[in-house]
Amino acid sequence: MSKVLITGAAGFLGSHLCDRFIKEGYQVIGMDNFITGDKKNIDHLLSNPCFEFIEHDVTEFVHIDGDLDYILHFASPASPIDYLKIPIQTLKVGSLGTHNLLGLARVKKARMLIASTSEVYGDPLVHPQREDYYGNVNTIGPRGVYDEAKRFQESMTMAYHRFHSVETRIVRIFNTYGPRMRLNDGRVIPAFMGQALRGEDLTVFGDGSQTRSFCYIDDQIEGIYRLLLSDYVEPVNIGNPHEISIKDFAEEIINLTGTTQKIIYKDLPINDPMQRQPDITLAKKLLGWEPRVGREAGMKLTFDYFKGLTEEELYKSEHKDFTGYIN
Ligand code: NAD
Ligand code: UDP
Repeated sequence: MSKVLITGAAGFLGSHLCDRFIKEGYQVIGMDNFITGDKKNIDHLLSNPCFEFIEHDVTEFVHIDGDLDYILHFASPASPIDYLKIPIQTLKVGSLGTHNLLGLARVKKARMLIASTSEVYGDPLVHPQREDYYGNVNTIGPRGVYDEAKRFQESMTMAYHRFHSVETRIVRIFNTYGPRMRLNDGRVIPAFMGQALRGEDLTVFGDGSQTRSFCYIDDQIEGIYRLLLSDYVEPVNIGNPHEISIKDFAEEIINLTGTTQKIIYKDLPINDPMQRQPDITLAKKLLGWEPRVGREAGMKLTFDYFKGLTEEELYKSEHKDFTGYIN
């Protein structure tokens, strides 16, 4: 039975990865320090003999008993508001955390896949974004803590591959959504759905002309799984190229949820990328992968999940007084 370590296991992507690897017959070790994750996401796995959970901060030395075949490093705050609130931890998990895990991969002779991001392209001047675009990132802007940690993470990973022959894979994840996103993490999909459910107006930042391309979680997990098992070392974009402006997206959410509330406009956050769409030619060619779940079906599944939250979860508003993100 192959053994895989998944960091960020109590988070959105990490918990879905744990489910997938267990389903594929792996022994899974989940690791998390719960800084942005939720135990609820892995509760259903805790009694499974194929799953072990270790509460640990990966910026500290990581020890695992026995053999290890794969490491998937998904620990990191991922929402702009999260990484603004905890900038130092964000930098540390992308740099020190990645270093620790690459060291572990080296001694265990394990293959390691890192979760990179479309944010390495910054506010892109090339559209759609291909893997050979170097990006347009403001190192000292508020988003720099995340973008530069992820860029460093990619460099460190390639260095361990080149100098220590560690087997590595790099996925550049574009905006992904689905059940188990945190309702209050500030990202646009939980934000709009939470507002619709609470009967609040939907907050569009800027004039809403900025674009994003949203990928459903099942498609993302399939792409990551195929990439891990492929023999391709350089970064691969995984995302859904179906692009939409945030204003049009807010209107879609109004239709989906049936809310009678309206759109209100707030300041655009500093360095908010104006357009984002993955070029997935490489993933199609290498992995035979492309997304299958359209936005309408994916958003419906996601809304069903948020509708199932308790009143307490719906009204917990951890970011209410946090304004540092906005200009
Ligand atoms: P998330 O916040 O739901 O999950 C991240 C998890 O990492 C949380 O459970 C958190 O507690 C844990 N974590 C953070 N720092 C840690 C540390 N030092 N030690 C141990 N655990 C730690 O976010 P997510 O959306 O699931 O993102 C997971 C990964 O995917 C991140 O690396 C993120 O950068 C990347 N990613 C996600 C998206 C997306 O659209 N969801 C897009 C691009 C990249
Ligand atoms: N956004 C918005 N209203 C919100 C939350 C986000 O208009 O309540 C916008 C945000 O400014 C960005 C887009 O939605 O242009 C996507 O934001 P998100 O935080 O989900 O992810 P990003 O792609 O910026 O990392």
